Amino acid sequence: MGKTGITCKEFSGMIPAFMEGTLEDRFLRGFLTHYDSCAGCREELEIQYLVGKVFEQMDAGEEINLSRDLPAYIEGQRRKMEFRDHLGFSAFLIECFTVLMAVVTAILYLR
Ligand SMILES: [Zn+2]
Repeated sequence: MGKTGITCKEFSGMIPAFMEGTLEDRFLRGFLTHYDSCAGCREELEIQYLVGKVFEQMDAGEEINLSRDLPAYIEGQRRKMEFRDHLGFSAFLIECFTVLMAVVTAILYLR
C-alpha cells in the first residue's frame, strides 16, 4: 500500500459518493488505486453499482450491461480526475476570468 493507499473499509465507505460522482479528487485517487489493486473491492463495487442501477433504470426501461457500463463509468471518473489534475491552477484562472468578464459585462450594461 502506497501513500495514497486506503483500506477496504474506507473504500467501501466511499462507494456511495463515487457512484454520485461527488467523491473529491484527493479521495478519488486512493479509491481508484485501491480499485485497481483489490479484487474483493472491485467485486463489492460491481454489486453496489448493479444494485444502484437496478433502481435507477427500472423506470427508464434501460438495459443494464455491467461488464460495459461499470468500466466505462470508472474510466470516465479516472479521466475526469486526470483532466482536473492536468488543468489544475489554469482551470481556476479560467473560472476567475469568466467571473470577471461577467462582472465587467454587467457593469458596462448597467452604465
Ligand atoms: Zn479492498
